[in-house]
Amino acid sequence: MDSEIVKRWIEAGKILGVNPTANILCPVCQQSFLKVQDVEIETDPLQIERHMSCDICGAYNALRMTVK
Ligand SMILES: [Zn+2]
Repeated sequence: MDSEIVKRWIEAGKILGVNPTANILCPVCQQSFLKVQDVEIETDPLQIERHMSCDICGAYNALRMTVK
């Protein structure tokens, strides 16, 4: 993966980790805002996975977060 794209994913993760409704452009194609979906982790109720995906190019990444 391109290091610029990696940097943009990290930025997206930082912002969406705090504000899941923020409009963040897809780090890969930059054509569409990332779609965010939180998924509970059955084996660990104290954590969730925040999935970030792009409808245009299919880019995908996930963050694992502690539920407060
Ligand atoms: Zn995209």
